[in-house]
Amino acid sequence: MTAPDISFEFFPPQNLEASFRLWDTVQTLAPMDPRFVSVTYGAGGTTRDLTRDAVATLHKSSGLNVAAHLTCVNASKAETLAIADQFAAAGVTDIVALRGDPPKGEGQFTPHADGFANSVELIEALAATDKFNIHVGAYPDIHPEAQNAQADIDWLKRKLDAGANEALTQFFFEAETFFRFRDACAKAGIDKQITPGILPIENWKGARNFARRCGTTIPKWVEDAFDKATRDGREDLLATAICTELCSDLIDGGVDKLHFYTLNRPELTRDVCHALGVVPKVDLQNVA
Ligand code: FAD
Repeated sequence: MTAPDISFEFFPPQNLEASFRLWDTVQTLAPMDPRFVSVTYGAGGTTRDLTRDAVATLHKSSGLNVAAHLTCVNASKAETLAIADQFAAAGVTDIVALRGDPPKGEGQFTPHADGFANSVELIEALAATDKFNIHVGAYPDIHPEAQNAQADIDWLKRKLDAGANEALTQFFFEAETFFRFRDACAKAGIDKQITPGILPIENWKGARNFARRCGTTIPKWVEDAFDKATRDGREDLLATAICTELCSDLIDGGVDKLHFYTLNRPELTRDVCHALGVVPKVDLQNVA
């Protein structure tokens, strides 16, 4: 099995303790030489300044290629593009461009009066600046707001045709789900990179709730396995095994890039990466 190219997603820290945890996560995972790491943008645009600061600090201090998430929520076009400009000024070349989820308590996305109406408009505006490599979200289990699977894929094609270079998927539990999606994308004429998003399950209850919220199908065998593992106090072992098997099946099916949702907890992601043959790259000059 050839080791995959990997990338890691972090969220911006909200307090000092969380800052240390993020730094720990970066220290643990950076030696695995990720293609890029990305920093999320809080739902409703709530972490705008934190995301900007975390992206700039990580970029400057870690030497990693840092991708900044950016959404259309709660901001005018001018404000959103000003943030993108700040990312560019900090040396950031990669953006994960999203419509975004509304703030907590608001059921559906409502565009700002002077804002981007949807992700395609945001992507077009970012592409017009000619400053960024643009990544977008994709949904193998179908986005809850999509009319149907085909409409979801047609919309993804519009996002990629608008100037995005790569799709990063929402997490899913079975490799077949991704393969079906990849085939349907190819059939729709999508020929750009589609990278599976992988969630190592650090906390089953939290992952299950998150999956339900974003429409990710939870197979019964996964529910049953976690019920037993929770009862027997071996959730971590199961999570590592399930995640490694999923990644290994994806690689066997031709996938060569994986994007890990780390939730700023590095251990499981590190263990899975090691099991897949992604090992720390030791700089020999530093060893001498
Ligand atoms: P879109 O793909 O634009 O829309 C979602 C779906 O709605 C589409 O798949 C399509 O089926 C339908 N749709 C929307 N508009 C139209 C239209 N005009 N015509 C037809 N169909 C339409 N959220 C955050 O708040 N911050 C983050 O940092 C963040 N990071 C993420 C990273 C990844 C890799 C992924 C997959 C998701 C992330 N999200 C984040 C969640 C994301 O914001 C939500 O899933 C949101 O509901 C959709 O954003 P999108 O850009 O993918 O939307």
